[in-house]
Amino acid sequence: MSHQIDIFAAGAQRLQMNESIELTIQSMQAYGPSHDHWGVAWSGGKDSTATLTIICWLLDTGKLARPKTLTVFYADTRQELTPLAISAEQIMDELRERGIAVEVVRAPLDKRFMVYILGRGVPPPNNNTLRWCTRQIKIDPMEEALRKRIEGLGGNILMITGVRQGESAIRDRRIEMSCGKDGAECGQGWYQQVLPNARGLRGRIATLAPLLHWRVCHVWEWLRHWAPEEEFGDWSTAAIADAYGGDEAEELNARTGCIGCALAQEETALETVLRNPQWSYLAPLRGIKPLWRELREPQHRLRKAGLERLKDGSIAKNPQRLGPLVFEARLMGLDRILSIQDECNRVARATGRPLINLIDAEEEARIRELIDAETWPQGWEGDEPTGDVVLETVYANGAVQPLLFGSD
Ligand code: SF4
Repeated sequence: MSHQIDIFAAGAQRLQMNESIELTIQSMQAYGPSHDHWGVAWSGGKDSTATLTIICWLLDTGKLARPKTLTVFYADTRQELTPLAISAEQIMDELRERGIAVEVVRAPLDKRFMVYILGRGVPPPNNNTLRWCTRQIKIDPMEEALRKRIEGLGGNILMITGVRQGESAIRDRRIEMSCGKDGAECGQGWYQQVLPNARGLRGRIATLAPLLHWRVCHVWEWLRHWAPEEEFGDWSTAAIADAYGGDEAEELNARTGCIGCALAQEETALETVLRNPQWSYLAPLRGIKPLWRELREPQHRLRKAGLERLKDGSIAKNPQRLGPLVFEARLMGLDRILSIQDECNRVARATGRPLINLIDAEEEARIRELIDAETWPQGWEGDEPTGDVVLETVYANGAVQPLLFGSD
């Protein structure tokens, strides 16, 4: 009996998959032909990988007419989970074997996540409204790469993203910008909404999310069972589904993002990866998220003592705000990350498993150089008190609440 139900469920799943794919084809056929040049904004996560591989399959099988050029822009944040980074490398090889142009897009050295925090001293991001990281390690480098590409093409480009919102998005037409919500892949909503309005790109780029309507179970089904089949392209995508939990992933709306992302409630992907004996040696990575939390504590940061005047003479909002990381905290963070890296790599070397690369030699040298040069983020001099020093309270209207000392 249960077997019959399984067969029915599998059949229904396949039917829905076919419908989803058909809608994808229709949206590509409606918008693709009006653009000679296509790009894919790919992060190596589940949604954008499904998008990329299905587009390639549709082109290979003639279900879609080929554009004049197709460029895959791989957003390499240097913060991806190891199994996903390895899968991305494999898929890049497979793309190049097919003659598809792949461009690896990375932030410049000083703007990379680790260098910006541990070298420049900018505190780790802590919420969805003030996060600097998505723009800096994903959006800005992508904008730059696209600007250059468009200059070379002399035309406009259709940028294909992996934004996927399932049925609710079709109803309310809302693209989720926050990476922490509903399993969205960090950055894809920004690519969809922000890129078309970026300086130098306005009017030269259109975006399309051909998997917008896909349910998450279809993404897993595609990555795990369809794309690896020869008839669908023989892609190395099953490892991506495995990284998120293999068969359990069918029901899981897992988000994709950086290792230790301070904005994710739980590190679902990392914990899933660690349950696999092949990746259990990465357990020290669990230490990254608490490190970012710890570094945001007041004793590790400077604080504006009194009222802060802006260039135009007005008073800055948020008086006595906490600011950058002091040098000791940066060195402590650097040491902690390098120890985590060493611990993983010791086991990796002993057991023949992949090495991890959280901070490479160039990044470490730059972090130390920035600390040695006593670098502070803009607006900070380094002579401000640390956040744990007790100060008079200053209010946004300039009023001061003096320190009250008890008398005997
Ligand atoms: S995954 Fe998290 S840490 Fe990475 S860019 Fe997105 S919000 Fe920032």
